Amino acid sequence: MNTRELSYRLETVAKYILKGQKLADIGSDHAYLPCYAVLTGLVPFAVAGEVVEGPYLSAKSHVQEEGLSKQISVRMGDGLEVIELDEVDCMTIAGMGGALIANILESGKDKIVNLNRLILQPNISAISIRQWLIANGWQLINEEIIEEDGKIYEILVAEQGDPMLPYNQEETNKSLLLGPFLMKERNLAFQKKWRRELNNWERILENLKNAQASPENSQRKLELQTKIRYVKEVLANETNERT
Ligand code: SAM
Repeated sequence: MNTRELSYRLETVAKYILKGQKLADIGSDHAYLPCYAVLTGLVPFAVAGEVVEGPYLSAKSHVQEEGLSKQISVRMGDGLEVIELDEVDCMTIAGMGGALIANILESGKDKIVNLNRLILQPNISAISIRQWLIANGWQLINEEIIEEDGKIYEILVAEQGDPMLPYNQEETNKSLLLGPFLMKERNLAFQKKWRRELNNWERILENLKNAQASPENSQRKLELQTKIRYVKEVLANETNERT
């Protein structure tokens, strides 16, 4: 991977960047994504934000090497503190846990009130992002789930608007966990991810059944049983629909 050739994961993120708009890439590390977006003419200007000095310096040197210092502003700071209100139109946050991405959005939510689009790629816990989006007036407009080098990644694309929740709580919970678009499509990566999770949860549940009873243990078992039921229902739908 480099500034001209992205990984399949980042390429999928880049696919959703709004053409011609100003971009912020938060947690940019090497700044491959903003460099690629500017070099390919996708965006005219980008901010690359980084909180850690090593990746910040790496981003700065990649941007300089590519001669993009005028079009890409590399800034060191925590989350959205590196951007001003109305400075960018579109934002990517990729390659972190979903809870961290949701925290970054929550801490900087006054900066994104006028943004057109968020493209978020959590490595785990996409549910934390979906919950944040719903609570903050953002609507998922698309999702993708992909596999690269044996790892599975989800990409969530959101715009401002009514989240349009399913008709009941059970369906809402299911779509928060699995993703409304992803559970409709149920592609191979989706099936692989959730079969892996199912195996994992069933193993934990078995251990909990053999552990000493406690209120926390019962609560944990209940949560796992509910998630197992949701996932089994969605995966079974697929079999039903194909038979
Ligand atoms: N976005 C790139 C990608 O997807 O390949 C880099 C992902 S890298 C695993 C995550 C980066 O996010 C790290 O460089 C880390 O320093 C940065 N990061 C973590 N928390 C951050 C925060 N609160 N604000 C800005 N950057 C952050």
